[in-house]
Order: sequence, then structure tokens, then C-alpha cells
Amino acid sequence: MIAVDIEKKLKAYNGQQVLQVKKAFIPGSITRITGPSGAGKTTFLKMLAGLITPDSGIIKTRNSTWFDATQKINLPPQQRHIGFVFQDYALFPNMTVKQHLEYATTDANWTNRLVTIGGLDTFADHKPNHLSGGQQQRLAILLALAIKPKLLLMDEPFSALDLKMKSALIKDLQMLFTAIGATTLIVSHNPQELDSISTDALEIG
Ligand code: ADP
Repeated sequence: MIAVDIEKKLKAYNGQQVLQVKKAFIPGSITRITGPSGAGKTTFLKMLAGLITPDSGIIKTRNSTWFDATQKINLPPQQRHIGFVFQDYALFPNMTVKQHLEYATTDANWTNRLVTIGGLDTFADHKPNHLSGGQQQRLAILLALAIKPKLLLMDEPFSALDLKMKSALIKDLQMLFTAIGATTLIVSHNPQELDSISTDALEIG
């Protein structure tokens, strides 16, 4: 379980707006996050990941406190053991598909399983600039899963995928989320794409 009760003043061009989120995420649940552009969806994920600091409140898991403004607790990202799929993929230009995954995990069976589920077997030795946008996006998803995170944060993870690829991949990913016991939060502009797998929803803004 991840319990969140946080506030952050957003620096918007058109004045100031306060992002407030109070929510408990059940272990193993898949939550779709929706809301208008600029509402703070990405900022919220980054606060969970420890990349942006909330102004006030708490973020707690069953066993540990990640953030507590009054007690001045703020665990760094690497201690939160989170998988994060960024909108800009954050891939390394000089590493092949296989090398990306081997950098994240030494479990060769797991690496092979991920490559296959991402449909990247024949591209294992390719570097990002020799992959299509959709393939790069799939690699970013696999990379986030490689560390078997307990919390997986995905920011528009399927935006570059065509419809057919998307529904097949989503089904496979659901099995992986369950296998590793990840609690998953997915920001999506097209929430219908998650109808078959999401178990909860959060609207921001
Ligand atoms: P969304 O993902 O819902 O489109 P964002 O989270 O990207 O929205 O951005 C929401 C607002 O938060 C923007 O106006 C942006 O300028 C502001 N913002 C982004 N990062 C920070 C930050 N570190 N501190 C305060 N405000 C921020």
C-alpha cells in the first residue's frame, strides 16, 4: 500500500495553482491517472519518484516513510526502488537494447522474457537511433520493469504505439505487473486503452 497526502504549488504561466492529491494505492492495483494538460500529472509522478519535493504532506508505504514534510524525511529516488517510464524515454544513445536491460538487471532469463514481450528480439543489438518511436517506447517500458519495481510510474507510456501493438502489449504487461507484484500508476490521455486492465482511477485537476 502507498498512502499519499501531498500538496505542491505549481508554477504556471497563468498564475499559481495548487496540486493536491490524497489517495491510497492498493498493492498490485493498476490506477489510471487522467486530467487536463498542465494539471500536474507528471509533477505528481515525479513527487512519488522523489524527483520533485512536495511543499507539505506525507508519502508512506507499509514499511517506510518516503516523505514527511513535518519530520523532514525525504528519501532519495534510488532508495524508493521505483520504475519510471518518462515521456521522453530517457534512453542511452550508445547502448543496445540488450545492454540497456543488462545495465538494469543481471537476471538473463528476465531480460530475455522482457525482450520477447516487448517484441524486440530481432532488435536486441540495435541502438535507440536505429529503433522506431514505438520500439523506443517499448524499450523504455521494459527498462522500467527490469528492476522488478514495487511501484511502477508510467507517463503516457503507449502514446507512440499503434492500436494493435498497444492492446497486445497491454495484456502482456498486465501479466508482468502481476508477476512482480507491482503497484502501477499510468497517466493516459486515452483512458479507454486501459479499460481492460485498470482497477482504480485518479483524476488530477
Ligand atoms: P501535466 O502532466 O498534467 O500536463 P505537469 O505536471 O507537466 O502537468 O505541469 C503542471 C504545471 O506544473 C506546469 O504549469 C508546470 O510549469 C508546473 N511545474 C512543473 N515542474 C514544477 C516544479 N518542480 N515546481 C513547481 N511547478 C512545477
